[in-house]
Amino acid sequence: MHDDLAGRRVLVTGSSQGIGLAVACAFAAAGARVGLNARSAPGGLDALLDGLGGGAAFFPGDLSRTADCERVVEDCAARFGGLDILVNNAGALVGRVPLEEIDDAFYDAVGSVNCRSALMCTRSALPHLKRSAAETGQMASVILVGSIAGSTGGGPGAGLYGAAKAWLQNIQKNWVAFHTADGIRFNTVSPGTVDTAFHADKDAAARAAVSAGIPMGRFGRPEEIAPAFLFLASNAAAGYVTGQVIEVNGGQFMP
Ligand code: NAP
Repeated sequence: MHDDLAGRRVLVTGSSQGIGLAVACAFAAAGARVGLNARSAPGGLDALLDGLGGGAAFFPGDLSRTADCERVVEDCAARFGGLDILVNNAGALVGRVPLEEIDDAFYDAVGSVNCRSALMCTRSALPHLKRSAAETGQMASVILVGSIAGSTGGGPGAGLYGAAKAWLQNIQKNWVAFHTADGIRFNTVSPGTVDTAFHADKDAAARAAVSAGIPMGRFGRPEEIAPAFLFLASNAAAGYVTGQVIEVNGGQFMP
């Protein structure tokens, strides 16, 4: 179904673990050439890259910083001779801070890792994605990672995180309006509660309480989120899909 992803050049940000790593593995299994990124390399990096095939490579960088966004995108595009698909997955809760205690440093941290990262990676990727569309005749793709928090407002102390995800879901509308003509589709995958290090602070009781609010009765697994990215990136499957938010959440949130 996603045969057209073979040979496509993909950068997945924040992909040393969790959802990003599952997405990178899924693209590699579909025959894509995959660039991974995180601040720190995952353990067993060489074996991981060998397993992904296609000359997979890791590009370290803190995407809270514009200079790192530019460098990671340029290095990935140079490595693969271009870029067809950008997955803006790097993101973090940073912390749970109630409104009364939010300060400039926390505001900057949440905004930088969730919004600046996607904005500046997309800005840096734009010329490469335009060139991809012009040279291959296939639309390029930018995929953002939202969250149910972007629609619900987020849980205790997570208001800024939820707002950052809503910001992403909104700015893609502008990009669709003004960059579809460049041959680029923009979509968002919006996960529910997924079993990753993101929830490392939850004990068994907290996990049970969250699960009780999910019709499927459990957290999602990263591997269950990844196929939505393949669908959106594939022009064969989703060539007429742009500006959309796909919710993958076990029924936890229904728009
Ligand atoms: P995770 O397991 O904590 O993984 C986050 C990844 O991003 C890691 O590879 C991490 O590596 C990297 N990263 C963090 N800060 C970064 C930075 N400044 N620059 C570059 N890379 C950075 O989290 P996850 O659950 O897979 O989350 C992935 C995405 O899904 C995030 O955007 C998150 O907001 C979103 N999401 C998650 C859930 C959930 O329930 N898990 C729900 C909705 C949305 P380093 O620490 O080495 O940099």
